[in-house]
Amino acid sequence: TGAKQVVTRFAPSPTGFLHIGGARTALFNLLFARHHGGKFLLRIEDTDRARSTDQAISAILDGMRWLNLDWDGEEVYQFSRAERHAQVAREMLANGHAYKCFATAEELEAMRAEQKANKQPLRYDGRWRDRDEAEGGDAPFVIRLKAPREGAVTIEDHVQGPVTVNNAELDDLVLLRSDGTPTYMLAVVVDDHDMGVTHVIRGDDHLNNAFRQLPIYRAMGWEEPEYAHIPLIFNPDGTKMSKRKNAVAVDEYRDALGILPEALSNYLLRLGWGHGDDEIISREQAIEWFALSGVGRSPSRFDLKKLESL
Ligand code: GLU
Repeated sequence: TGAKQVVTRFAPSPTGFLHIGGARTALFNLLFARHHGGKFLLRIEDTDRARSTDQAISAILDGMRWLNLDWDGEEVYQFSRAERHAQVAREMLANGHAYKCFATAEELEAMRAEQKANKQPLRYDGRWRDRDEAEGGDAPFVIRLKAPREGAVTIEDHVQGPVTVNNAELDDLVLLRSDGTPTYMLAVVVDDHDMGVTHVIRGDDHLNNAFRQLPIYRAMGWEEPEYAHIPLIFNPDGTKMSKRKNAVAVDEYRDALGILPEALSNYLLRLGWGHGDDEIISREQAIEWFALSGVGRSPSRFDLKKLESL
């Protein structure tokens, strides 16, 4: 117990600037790892080739360096690991935890139309789950997870508490597309496993994904990580932050607003986490005091005026 080294990671998709929500996620991951004498890793999730840009990668790396969010070792580029992801999908096929699905796009479209007409939830109905794959012949196929149908899964989330989802609500998600490229769900799990990640700390918009990712760990017999899904950051009035109306990019704070990295870092720390009435918390103190049990469950409200007055 407690002998295993803590490993956390920040896993941004380089499809845009580093926003303050991401910076806070990175900060919490860093503090948790440092508090436990563990490692904090960075993975650039550039698997979506159409939306990932070099410019976004630079913005993320620069923003993290500016905020002193130093990661351990070299950052990992997810796309470079595509062959490993495909290999795991094939392994799951071989051990019976996945299957080939030859359903065409038109067929799936018709399936959804029917589900919609019957007011059923729209989800893949498992039509190839128990079929002989020889019937598919040479046609293109995707590899789908043979997800458990019975029972329920409970995650003891460090922030959200226990959260339960019935397996009947989940479908057999695609692991490998017909062109051989991995889906996001598969890539995240394989990378977290291979990087030895013990604690997945990320925005609570990913909580649902945890229930789709856990069956992949189980199918592979891999040790499951612990989860902490932190509430997103909202405007003072509770509305969602947007690029148009708010300063949401870290480089805006640096370049246009002239805010010091220590001030922004301190402000982000106190959005959703606090230590008594302390207003200024040094990085050393934050490392000493940080605990996931101190992360609040309600969405944080971001007030730029407060930050500018620091
Ligand atoms: N790449 C995902 C994102 O930027 C995060 C994935 C994760 O943390 O598991 O939203």
